[in-house]
Amino acid sequence: MARHTILLVEDEETLSRALSYSLEREGHRVLTAADGELGLALARSQRPDLVILDLMLPKLDGLQVCRALRAESSIPILMLTARADEVDKIVGLQLGADDYVTKPFSMRELLARVAAILRRADLGHAAPTSHAGPVLVADGLEVSIPARQAKLHGARLALRPKEFDLLAFLLQNRGAVFSRSALLERVWGYDYAGDTRTVDVHIHWLREKIEANPAKPARLITSRGAGYKFEASA
Ligand code: CA
Repeated sequence: MARHTILLVEDEETLSRALSYSLEREGHRVLTAADGELGLALARSQRPDLVILDLMLPKLDGLQVCRALRAESSIPILMLTARADEVDKIVGLQLGADDYVTKPFSMRELLARVAAILRRADLGHAAPTSHAGPVLVADGLEVSIPARQAKLHGARLALRPKEFDLLAFLLQNRGAVFSRSALLERVWGYDYAGDTRTVDVHIHWLREKIEANPAKPARLITSRGAGYKFEASA
């Protein structure tokens, strides 16, 4: 993988040092900040390829930093959280983080997530800007794979990278049910050891955007005990 610049915003010094070491060993350039204010300033001045952002930080917390960054760029953000209720906060506020990891995590897991995000970001940059190529159409929904754009009744949808990937994948395989772990493997592209909530969160976000009534989805269907599918007749 190409060398990337990663900004690590984490106030726990031991963790920050261990993470920097591991990321540098992967060949990345690592910038560190121990509080939210400095983190935001570095993100703006250094334009890193990825921000790893702890949630509980001095000065500005991770939520504020994430919101500020999202308002001005689509820079990939991986959130670190310590508690399950923080995950609820990230999900509930729809902050636009690309992914999150709950502490404690294994270094291997974190590096895998980082690699997956960077790979996707690289692909995104390399993607042709032309609108030509396969366009998937279903019930007012139009998804152009090469342009990485989705429209609903002609209006462009603002989708996070993984929301787009998930929607495109399910639409390409319309009618087929995929388990959460199968979706993690196919869409997120890494071996996922535990938390399949990531999939639920993204389905939830997508439903908010493409369902007339997100509480009663007609397109993204939950197949009880099995997983999710894009409704074949939609
Ligand atoms: Ca912290």
